[in-house]
Amino acid sequence: MLTEKWYEILERYRDEVSRCVCCGICQAGCPTYAVTGDESMVARGKLSLIEAVLNGDLKLTDNFKECMSRCTSCLSCVENCPSGVDPVKIINAARGELFKNKGSYLVLRFVLQYILRSERLLYPTAKMMGMLVKYIYNPLLRRRYLPFLRGGRDRLIPNIGESHLRKRVPEIVKVKNPRMRVALFTGCMIDLVYQDIGLSIIDLLKRAQIEVVLPREQLCCGAPGYYSGDSDTAIFLAKKNLDIYNSLEVDAIITDCATCGRMLKEVYRLLLGEKRIATLIPSEKVNDERDSLNRFTSKVVDIHKFIIENIDPLIYSADSKAEKIRVTYHDPCHLSRGQGVRRPPREILNALRGVEYIEMEGADNCCGGAGLFTIRHYDLSLNIAEQKARSIKETGADIVATGCPSCQMHLSDALYRARLNIRVMHTAQLLIV
Ligand code: SF4
Ligand code: SF4
Repeated sequence: MLTEKWYEILERYRDEVSRCVCCGICQAGCPTYAVTGDESMVARGKLSLIEAVLNGDLKLTDNFKECMSRCTSCLSCVENCPSGVDPVKIINAARGELFKNKGSYLVLRFVLQYILRSERLLYPTAKMMGMLVKYIYNPLLRRRYLPFLRGGRDRLIPNIGESHLRKRVPEIVKVKNPRMRVALFTGCMIDLVYQDIGLSIIDLLKRAQIEVVLPREQLCCGAPGYYSGDSDTAIFLAKKNLDIYNSLEVDAIITDCATCGRMLKEVYRLLLGEKRIATLIPSEKVNDERDSLNRFTSKVVDIHKFIIENIDPLIYSADSKAEKIRVTYHDPCHLSRGQGVRRPPREILNALRGVEYIEMEGADNCCGGAGLFTIRHYDLSLNIAEQKARSIKETGADIVATGCPSCQMHLSDALYRARLNIRVMHTAQLLIV
């Protein structure tokens, strides 16, 4: 046995790790295991390694770090574990331990701890990246081999950051006689990359006589920090966003990105919840913090669910005389398993007169598009997406609807590589096309 070391972050989950009975049920839905057959990819394997670290039988080696990074955080193991273990939370704690004890790439650390924490740095950086993608990568490099990007050849990357959504619309989008007032949490991907999604959603809300507030100071949801093990950045951003949105008089806080939605609704509870609150702030302020967190999370709602509860999709449905477009739907992991939103997108699509909805096989299987995982393990993420592209093709659909810009980017890339002319859109966009 090696000399035992106290791992403060992982230690919180020692009991939960020991509840894993190694039944292997988590193998079935694990996307990384499905394409590799490697036991270290599946939750059971990762938990065994984490237990070995906790018991002092294994150090935080580079192999351990690599193994912890090979997980899309798809939540399939969380949903299926009969022992009630949450491997994603524990794998993230291991990433946190690695981030603290072994550090991270300098660039990643700089992005997380400086750029993401400041709007003033985020926008110029996004603009610079956007120019590189638009004028150098997309027209010149994409068709050649990129030695510094594994599998980078022919990779489809959308244009980034030429402008940003919150600059293109007023801070308060007013309507006559509003029946509701909501705040929109745009998320970085929709603010900087898929602005057309944000504009469609604002347009839809306006037509439904709903006033929309887009707070200028809104920051990243913190997902890149949380899933990289940098909880300090995630907590910093969570607290800022909580203060900003709690200061608004709104009926709901709408999210249009599955990952942002899960962060705001679920992960903020983990980051700022009872145990953390007790260690971070003086005891006399605990109740205030708890109330503030509850007030915020109770208002957060995904756009699909909001539409079904507050807007009649039929009103916006195109004329049925036109030829119907064939649409299938991909469940983003952080929307279906992460927030339990499965029926609303299907109800919307089935309600649209101009749409013929076709359910695909394995609609809720992970597509492999998982933020930094897609950058670090691009080949693996593409292998996962290939199965998804086959399932989409079998439906004969013209359009794949989804509710996560990260899935949208990865699916577009996978479909482009498979030479399939199938468009990927946010479900909410289909209401007003
Ligand atoms: S399903 Fe749960 S208990 Fe079974 S091996 Fe996986 S993590 Fe362990
Ligand atoms: S979250 Fe998904 S990819 Fe990660 S171990 Fe669990 S099932 Fe596998």
